[in-house]
Amino acid sequence: MKKHNFNPGPSILPQYTIDETVKAIQNFSNTDLSLLEVSHRSKEFDAVMDETKALFKELLTVPEGYGVAFVGGGASTQFFHIPYNFLAKKAAYVNTGEWASRAIKEAKVFGEVDVIASSEDKNFSYIPKGYTIPKDADYLHLTSNNTIFGTELLEDINSPIPLISDMSSDIFSRPLDVSKYAMIYGGAQKNLAPAGLTFVIVREDFLGKAPRPLPTMVDYRTHIKNNSMYNTPPCVVVYSALMTLRWLKNLGGVAAMEKRNIEKANLLYSEIDRNKLFRGTVAKEDRSRMNVCFVMASGSEQLEEEFLNFAKGKALVGLKGHRSVGGFRASLYNALPLESVQLLVDTMKEFEAAH
Ligand SMILES: *Cc1c(COP(=O)(O)O)cnc(C)c1O
Repeated sequence: MKKHNFNPGPSILPQYTIDETVKAIQNFSNTDLSLLEVSHRSKEFDAVMDETKALFKELLTVPEGYGVAFVGGGASTQFFHIPYNFLAKKAAYVNTGEWASRAIKEAKVFGEVDVIASSEDKNFSYIPKGYTIPKDADYLHLTSNNTIFGTELLEDINSPIPLISDMSSDIFSRPLDVSKYAMIYGGAQKNLAPAGLTFVIVREDFLGKAPRPLPTMVDYRTHIKNNSMYNTPPCVVVYSALMTLRWLKNLGGVAAMEKRNIEKANLLYSEIDRNKLFRGTVAKEDRSRMNVCFVMASGSEQLEEEFLNFAKGKALVGLKGHRSVGGFRASLYNALPLESVQLLVDTMKEFEAAH
């Protein structure tokens, strides 16, 4: 039976990406070799890397003066690469959840960290607003979409100091004004590709001023200058990313994707608000379009396990909430079709009628 995949990450990918990756694993670019066994220095793979970078830049309208690189280590490695490169004295961070907290922990290894706002007081159920950005900090770090807690900052804010954002779980979900940022980064495994690839977009005039000696692999210029092939890239994952980018372009790019994502999120949040058995956990104005967190309404808590099993019976999988929120989390990444959300909504209605 076809499954409806609401996993938070690694997560659903377009069927096109999976099918094309399988074909390339059988026979890559008519080489009669598998993508698993070709050299990353071959002209065929070079073409893959070039097209991946070009499409990535085109679909996000990355302006002149920015470098794009694909590196290893996940977003978690960027948590220390960023302060390594940019933290001279003090950096400002907004704490909006588990990933932001981990980024803060790593930055503290390199210097002073000013946590200028936090939503920890209410279990990260909202995005802090109205904070003052200190002009003497080296950069401001945000997490645009909080995958675990289901909050999202949908605005590209103006910052008087270089702005850095972890966009692991909402990249390519809406049009972005990249020019507002000094750097954007994230793991690929939510909206782009299988795990194993990290994307980095960085303004070139922000580079080259590191306050300490940088190991070659930590210096972003290494990866930009060497077309992300200073060391061996995960070729299969890069290929899958390219297939997702082609799929995205074919569907009309990020503007079309945003329309789909709004429609999907509205459909599910409306049902959460209407249905007497469930309630959302996040401040309405900060609700994420990518990760929808909800729990059983008060008085119905004992039905949680039963609902998960009921949903599983309808082939709806990956809905269990993260342990720090409990309840349910439906991840509605780009590749998830509207029909899967409709089926979840219908299932919630049916469950309500049965109780
Ligand atoms: C998943 C996730 C991470 C962690 O990514 P890794 O690639 O596993 O290191 C970091 N930040 C956010 C917002 C995430 O969703």
